[in-house]
Amino acid sequence: MTLPTSTRAAVLVEHGAPLELQDLPLPETIEPGAALVRLVCSTLCGTDIEIWEGKMSFPGMLPMVLGHEMVGEVIAVGEGAHDATGRPLEIGQRIGWSESVCGQCFGCTVLREPVFCQRRGYGFMQRSDVPPFATAGLSEYAYVTPGAQKLILPDEVKDAWAAMAGCAAKTVLRGFDRAGGVRVGDTVVVQGAGALGVFATAVAKVSGASKVITVGGPDERLEIAKRFGADHTVNISAGSEGIVTQVMELTGGAGANFIIDVAGAPSVGPEAIGMAAARGTFVVIGSTGPVGEPFPLSGIMGKELTVVGSINGDVSDYFHAIEFFRAFADRYDWDALFSAPVGLTEASECIVHMHEQTELKAVVDPRLG
Ligand SMILES: [Zn+2]
Ligand SMILES: [Zn+2]
Repeated sequence: MTLPTSTRAAVLVEHGAPLELQDLPLPETIEPGAALVRLVCSTLCGTDIEIWEGKMSFPGMLPMVLGHEMVGEVIAVGEGAHDATGRPLEIGQRIGWSESVCGQCFGCTVLREPVFCQRRGYGFMQRSDVPPFATAGLSEYAYVTPGAQKLILPDEVKDAWAAMAGCAAKTVLRGFDRAGGVRVGDTVVVQGAGALGVFATAVAKVSGASKVITVGGPDERLEIAKRFGADHTVNISAGSEGIVTQVMELTGGAGANFIIDVAGAPSVGPEAIGMAAARGTFVVIGSTGPVGEPFPLSGIMGKELTVVGSINGDVSDYFHAIEFFRAFADRYDWDALFSAPVGLTEASECIVHMHEQTELKAVVDPRLG
């Protein structure tokens, strides 16, 4: 097969503007450890939307290709390329990959935490006008760099699930893991009913929570959360005080043992502290914004709460997300999380839909046009 020398990609040229379909060059040689893939599925993540609208921005980041949850079919392999479990990469395999890390910086070596790699290559860290040009999801082909941690995907894990494992699912699993997991029998509150919230609801339930309460909105999303393990839901229209009151009632006055923020609303802090049980744990994953509403530290002290932050995830979290979907493939109707796949030409509309919260998780299959 003759390898393509360029790829069609949906490029973000200006925040808030429609994506531009462009032809981007592909690297002429595949470096040792690298691969070239034809993308078969990309799912959009909240971060893509925040970058699109300019909520997340830094100088010199544009132009760029959005999409960092994706699955591709290998069409060329660099010398010695293998996946994160040591299996050699071969043409025709279906792979996913985690962001690239350098293995040499303070974060990689001293902290031993790839999420703190100072040279982390991750979707928005790659401009589309400098080599290797196309490494992200909203593209027909993508170059998977030597430093990107690849995984050969098991057949049981569908494309969209595996794509979602690449960021949303691994981020949620890392949050649970950072906090030591749910103790069987605990009451869990999930703050947020977007794709992460629904997934976190399911994870809490299969982890053995006695009661999972999902807080969010609108009602249609809360109905989805119920299908994914929520025993109760609380609509955020109740306001902070109403939310806390309802959770306290639903927990017999004790409060929740485990609260996980995947909403990032300014009010999640005071609400979590207010509804936490004594000795409870509060995991912060969703609060990407700079400011939240103030809350008294005495609430953390008085209840002896544990507060844990968690950002994104590394290939270990990604591996576990893939295994989670494999193990619990039949437990929930995972396909219900995703919209029907559309082509690259419709990616812009998907972003607007997700921004307006009329779509939970958009799926782009670049082969569709
Ligand atoms: Zn590093
Ligand atoms: Zn993401």
